[in-house]
Amino acid sequence: TAKGKNILEAALENHIYIPHLCCHPDLEPAGVCRLCMVEIGGRLVVACKTDAAQGLEVITQSEAIDKVRQVAMELLIVNHDGECLSCEKDSDCQMQEAANYIGIDKQRLERLRRSSRKLPIDKSNPFFELDQNKCILCGICVRTCSEIQGLSAIDFAFRGYDTQISTFANKPWTESSCESCGECVVRCPVGALKLKKNIKPSRTVKTTCPYCGVGCSIYLGMRVNTIVDITGDRDCVVNKGHLCVKGRFGQGFVNHPDRLKTPLIKRNNKFEEATWEQALEEIAKKFKKYQGKGNFAAVSSAKCTNEENYLIQKFARAIMGTNNVDHCARLCHAPTVAGLVQNFGSGAMTNSINEIKGAACILAIGTNTTEAHPIIGAKIRQAADKGVKLIVANPREIELCRQADIFMQHRAGTDVALLMGLMRVIVDEKLLDEEFIKQRCENFEEFKKSLKEFDLDTVEKITTVSKEKIIAAARMYATFKPGMIFYSMGITQHSHGTDNVLATGNLAMLTGNIGKPSTGVNPLRGQNNVQGACDLGALPNVYSGYQKVDDPQVHEKFEKEWKAKLDNKKGLTLTEMFPAIDKGRIKAMYLVGENPLLSDADSSHVKESIEKLEFFVVQDIFLTETAQLADVVLPAATFAEKEGTFTNTERRVQRVRRAIKPIGDSRPDWQIVCDIAQAMESPGFDFESAREVMDEIAKNTPIYKGISYKRIEKQGLQWPCLDAKHKGTPFLHKEKFSRGKGRFIPLHYKPSVELPDKDYPLLLTTGRSLYHFHTGTMTRKVKGLEQLKSREQLEISAGDAKNLGIKDKQKVKITSRRGQVEARAKITRACPPGTVYMTFHFKETLTNMITSPALDPIAKIPETKVCAVRVDISV
Ligand code: SF4
Repeated sequence: TAKGKNILEAALENHIYIPHLCCHPDLEPAGVCRLCMVEIGGRLVVACKTDAAQGLEVITQSEAIDKVRQVAMELLIVNHDGECLSCEKDSDCQMQEAANYIGIDKQRLERLRRSSRKLPIDKSNPFFELDQNKCILCGICVRTCSEIQGLSAIDFAFRGYDTQISTFANKPWTESSCESCGECVVRCPVGALKLKKNIKPSRTVKTTCPYCGVGCSIYLGMRVNTIVDITGDRDCVVNKGHLCVKGRFGQGFVNHPDRLKTPLIKRNNKFEEATWEQALEEIAKKFKKYQGKGNFAAVSSAKCTNEENYLIQKFARAIMGTNNVDHCARLCHAPTVAGLVQNFGSGAMTNSINEIKGAACILAIGTNTTEAHPIIGAKIRQAADKGVKLIVANPREIELCRQADIFMQHRAGTDVALLMGLMRVIVDEKLLDEEFIKQRCENFEEFKKSLKEFDLDTVEKITTVSKEKIIAAARMYATFKPGMIFYSMGITQHSHGTDNVLATGNLAMLTGNIGKPSTGVNPLRGQNNVQGACDLGALPNVYSGYQKVDDPQVHEKFEKEWKAKLDNKKGLTLTEMFPAIDKGRIKAMYLVGENPLLSDADSSHVKESIEKLEFFVVQDIFLTETAQLADVVLPAATFAEKEGTFTNTERRVQRVRRAIKPIGDSRPDWQIVCDIAQAMESPGFDFESAREVMDEIAKNTPIYKGISYKRIEKQGLQWPCLDAKHKGTPFLHKEKFSRGKGRFIPLHYKPSVELPDKDYPLLLTTGRSLYHFHTGTMTRKVKGLEQLKSREQLEISAGDAKNLGIKDKQKVKITSRRGQVEARAKITRACPPGTVYMTFHFKETLTNMITSPALDPIAKIPETKVCAVRVDISV
């Protein structure tokens, strides 16, 4: 058992206590507290820094050891505020444990103590505070921030007698680069870093975080029906206990008083509370009018479980007789599916989160990972800290750039040119993997011809990235192997999003960086279950498992399984539904857990369209901006109130577990869909539990065939999981691509549809904040997150601000061809001249009212990453 362990670890594992205060199992040993002294062959050594070995004789207690430990303990404790009885950590304090074991001479200690040393407590963070008076300078918080979070927002300062833990320039924590993840707080061995709200839970429930696509496993700490504490699941391979600020502190929305608790029916333009019977009767009566006519559309939800998405698409297809079903993947990763299917035959993340540490090079393009997928972002930072080469390509200077070996700040919308430029260098310099291309790929020669138009002068002109940087990046990615590509919406949300994705696929194949561990093309999914919603067929062209609706065999199979007459033509995408409403082609809509009034491009048009519907049903946990337009609103349960599964960005199907019964009269979405189907007297929806739905999914979905609740009880499984014994698939395309041979696709540069001109001279690009999620429906109900970021900001370069006479924090109007919004200016070096940036989380500033609805012709995703705007000072 000793192999690869230090003496302290080996001893603790064998239940031999050696006092220690600076050691933590997640961190590299530091050996600074000197409490873990042991004796080997008459020599005193630090146990946490000495390797254990079979047969090694170690003395853990002796007079000499005691003496050293006692002095070390006194020095640690001497500046510590000794009021244990009033400390929250009392009886759970590692220093008390060590001091009791070692024994302290109180008189000696009092002689050593300083007469007065009262340092101010930093209470600036909404979730936790730092009391320096209780700090023992063990450094666990400093090392956590550096080794786990990869951030180094805090360090030792004022070295010497006055040493203390400090942010840069000793500013309040909220003014530092701290990301409020709370990882330092959970590891603090004493009461120095503590939570502001510290309520001990009476029970815990293991489940999956409902925010981003990373899919961290969490324990909800419960007191009766309220979530009082969140901890990371240390056994989960995805996050190993690590959480971001939203995962750890952002679950307060569950118990928020504004939750919808009863169904609402609109009468005379006003919502009236209704019983479930009344609401279901109303819906059943109205929905029946649209059955089999193709004028009904369903919008499913990337926040709902797999089981719920499966049922919503089944409802649209088997009961309403239409393939008009889609969800918000249309607004984020539709090009991923459309593109990677052409390259590889499968449109999902090819590799696993856990493989990041094994990469030699990481190319992060169009992804602000540390804000949108924080735990993956932290793993990339950790890897970069350990020497993994990091290339960042982004129109804005994002946080990840701090650790990048090469940062290419290309103009928004020029990704194809940049990636083709990299490939041109790789081909010209013969850095390509010829053997891999010959054995595993096709259409290379055709693709090579298309590289001709990307000579580096042209690429430099289009992208504004220097030739030298492009050459250096190409050499780095092609020679430091294995290499992983990560991307997200910076690649997909363009009128040529599918081309962008194809370029990443081409690049991975060109260098043989695919089909092996720590390689691949890794699209990062934004929402908790956007992968699952796609997998389970909440798309207009495929059933669950990407089985095509227009494939006669598939069509026949589902007609037989569901005992229903099904449409064999592709339905409308989400972005086609609203224009179809305008034309009277869609008359009724069932929208679950989405808020298109904030999330969809050109959102005032979306609102106008919705207002034309004859009948509109919204199912959600809050009365969102979109729900306010509904005829009937159904109260849904949150993730904490239901059973089910989410599939994270790396295709891992994980359990969601019920911690409390649904709030008020709300019901789990899967149950509501069944209730509506039954009210319409339609068969095939008599499920008694989410588990039964998963059994049907496994039966009808080859890639999920081996998934069952029993198998994923402890740890999730990654699809394809082809039978009950299949162990899941950590990386795809191992021996052959899903489509057989990997296909190179020739590409040409197409500029974005709406570029700046004299009327609208600036380019607006959009993104996400670490502190908020999607349309803010959940995160803006959490006071602390709202305190950390409470309003929209327009990020603008100093040069542009100066030209426009704009001062920092000044209120400005941002106008595009579609409308106008207001925000406060934030002058930043993150934006290059000519480019401005906003998020879309705030209902007070409807960013998507001004974004461009120009669609990618294949994936039908709107170009929310590029539009032309004008910025003026608000009067
Ligand atoms: Fe939740 Fe994503 Fe944060 Fe993990 S990284 S805790 S899944 S929001």
